[in-house]
Amino acid sequence: MRRKGDLPTKTCQVCGLPFTWRKKWADVWDEVKYCSERCRRNRSKRSTDERGEDDTR
Ligand SMILES: [Zn+2]
Repeated sequence: MRRKGDLPTKTCQVCGLPFTWRKKWADVWDEVKYCSERCRRNRSKRSTDERGEDDTR
């Protein structure tokens, strides 16, 4: 299905929600992976979590 003037969308890698192209991303759309700065920051938190090297259980 096509709509007039529909914009590209991506899925945020942190919160998993779809987000739509924005003007401010015009130059970096290929590199955009997160819906917001919050998610961008969350990601760096996560990457250390995944390794869990400092985490002793
Ligand atoms: Zn997000």
